[in-house]
Amino acid sequence: MNRKYRKTLIAGNWKMNKTPSETKVFLTALKTILPKGRWCDIALCVPSVCIPTAVRAMRETRVAIGAENCNANASGAYTGEIATNMLVDAGCKYVIIGHSERREMGETDAEVNAKVHAAMDAGLTPIVCCGETLEQRESGITEEWITMQIKLALRGITEDKVRKLAIAYEPIWAIGTGVTASPEQAEEVCQHIRTVVRKLFGSKNARATTIVYGGSMNEKNAFELLAQPDIDGGLIGGASLVPEKFVKIIEAANQPTV
Ligand code: PEP
Repeated sequence: MNRKYRKTLIAGNWKMNKTPSETKVFLTALKTILPKGRWCDIALCVPSVCIPTAVRAMRETRVAIGAENCNANASGAYTGEIATNMLVDAGCKYVIIGHSERREMGETDAEVNAKVHAAMDAGLTPIVCCGETLEQRESGITEEWITMQIKLALRGITEDKVRKLAIAYEPIWAIGTGVTASPEQAEEVCQHIRTVVRKLFGSKNARATTIVYGGSMNEKNAFELLAQPDIDGGLIGGASLVPEKFVKIIEAANQPTV
């Protein structure tokens, strides 16, 4: 982390877990143990049907609510889809875009890019995901792959806008597997992402861009991961489903650093 130049973000990704009733129970518990520190931004990205409950429950807190996906179109015949203005009207501040689980379902780089534009135009903070498979890592093409994903996801984004989004480095081999990238592995790629952002948007913007790590981050490994200079937070799946674990990660983000 480097709080001098950029925001730290701890964001939960609930995926397809928890009903609205369970959301209420979770957030009641979370509120009672939420740390007082103000050093990091906190977001919970929840299933669409849980958004109204979550927004209501966290209104007076510093936990922002986000969605796990959006559609790039403003409105129309897209059965089952949700537009960015609907998310804003429902009280969302964040939206995860390009998660590997959605890419696995067929989401393309062009769609990711269109969603990033739509989200930013609506005033949402996109959490733009990228990450390599184990096969790509073992073939030694991680950096090339990540460079391509970032370039395509951020195509057409202007310099004044890039600092308003967050990038999540999520190695696919670490998501939901219990296998975490080592702090060195995670730092290496996050640093590389910052280099790509620097080449595209200049050094001031690269220094101000929040780049988080995701992939089996938990209450035990968060401190060490977050101590890395280019890891500005976490996108957390499994551990964000348990209030005590999520809070411990927030506490790890409150560690003294530069
Ligand atoms: C995720 O879903 O983005 C994620 C990182 O999941 P997990 O923390 O469970 O690996």
